[in-house]
Amino acid sequence: MREILEAIQAGASGEEISQLPIPQHYRAAFVRKEEVGIFEGLASQEKDPRLSLHVGEVATPELAPDEAYVAVMASAINFNTVWSAIFEPISTFAFLERLGRERKWGARHNLPYHVVGSDASGVVVRVGSAVRNFKPGDRVVVHCNYVDDQDPDGHDDSMMAANQRIWGFESNFGGLADLALVKANQLMPKPAHLSWEEAACNALTNSTSYRMLVSRNGAQMKQGDTVFIWGATGGLGGYAVQYVLNGGGIPVGVVSSAAKVKLLKDLGCEAVIDRSEARYRFWKDERTQDESEWRRLGKDIRSLVGQDPDIVFEHPGRQTMGASVFIARRGGTIVTCAATTGYMIEYDNRHLWMKLKTIKSSHFANYKEAWEANRLVCRGVIQPTLSMVFPLEKVGEAAYQVHHNLHEGKIGVLCLSPEEGLGIDDPQLRAKVGEDRITLFRRHQG
Ligand code: NAP
Repeated sequence: MREILEAIQAGASGEEISQLPIPQHYRAAFVRKEEVGIFEGLASQEKDPRLSLHVGEVATPELAPDEAYVAVMASAINFNTVWSAIFEPISTFAFLERLGRERKWGARHNLPYHVVGSDASGVVVRVGSAVRNFKPGDRVVVHCNYVDDQDPDGHDDSMMAANQRIWGFESNFGGLADLALVKANQLMPKPAHLSWEEAACNALTNSTSYRMLVSRNGAQMKQGDTVFIWGATGGLGGYAVQYVLNGGGIPVGVVSSAAKVKLLKDLGCEAVIDRSEARYRFWKDERTQDESEWRRLGKDIRSLVGQDPDIVFEHPGRQTMGASVFIARRGGTIVTCAATTGYMIEYDNRHLWMKLKTIKSSHFANYKEAWEANRLVCRGVIQPTLSMVFPLEKVGEAAYQVHHNLHEGKIGVLCLSPEEGLGIDDPQLRAKVGEDRITLFRRHQG
């Protein structure tokens, strides 16, 4: 990969890059099938990604006609890499085995190791014979919707395809590596004003937040809507707040420290709740929720913005869903894409049906949605939320930070890129957007 990196750094043409040999092995972060049981008996928080995420050489898979090899300059940590690394709620090798049953190209994925990672920025180095819109030398970011174009269910909305998968989580050869294998329809232009690591951190969570709030497949936020956002400086929340502000809505953000309150205010969110100060106890014990605590949260929101939320942006899951259903206004929408604190959800259905609320499920984004979300990053309208950067060798520590909620926004990972700050092709746009806005999360984390 060194030769490829040197060519990229020297500004080699696409033609020159296409002539470089693809190495037979490359450096990657992976979990091992033989280690799936190592955390048995431990609580979730005790399972340590630093023990299960390894960095080493893996064999380069064969390229299918509709695929591209991308030389990965930078990647990012998503919560799904934490799930893979702690083998919860199930081992991701189950996904690889299922994909392995899909004939020749699927079979490549079923290996005793799983190269993880669902975000990447980099340079296309080779394309398969069926690829039309991208070519070697293109500077790209990768979104994680890995979908089969031969499934009729996917032709209205590709997230509806029966074998839709998340790349680097439900497929192998992900982005936390020096080389990635992706379908051509995962490729999008790299935002030219951002560094490799700033560009790499957006696609997964930015596209997810876009679908949840903006797309017709999500909550369809409109001007003036009040949107209540859990984890408002987290991976999803940092983009959700920006969409609400850009779309003329009123965000109410929840975070868990004074430092995050400051960050959220600097992002432009005026109505902020510090849950570590408010100390809501939605659950009296493991089985019983406390409606008076839901009411207290509702009152706090009204005191900040004068009304109940039109939309609740939900992802913590079991800990918060009862409260989320309660606080939404009559006719409001609770849009959910996850369940970090537990997926067996309980809420009081009377508050849902009597007040005609809707629970809307959402999952990643189709190509069009990811493209639209990326276009907003490219135009400098949505900013990256990169707060920390680790080298690939420290990927376990990076995942540990996310697992233990020690981070803000996104954590970037340098793969081929030897240092931070490289890859900026449009300094004029960068200056126009403003260094302060682009690096807000990075400066906050210190
Ligand atoms: P993240 O960066 O860890 O942020 C999550 C935020 O949730 C944290 O910053 C934390 O904020 C808040 N939080 C954690 N525990 C909480 C609790 N008990 N009560 C209230 N808030 C709590 O993760 P993320 O990238 O935003 O992802 C969040 C979840 O969505 C993960 O489970 C991830 O796997 C999932 N996800 C799903 C999709 C999809 O396509 N379906 C896409 C992306 C992510 P504070 O501590 O500041 O309150």
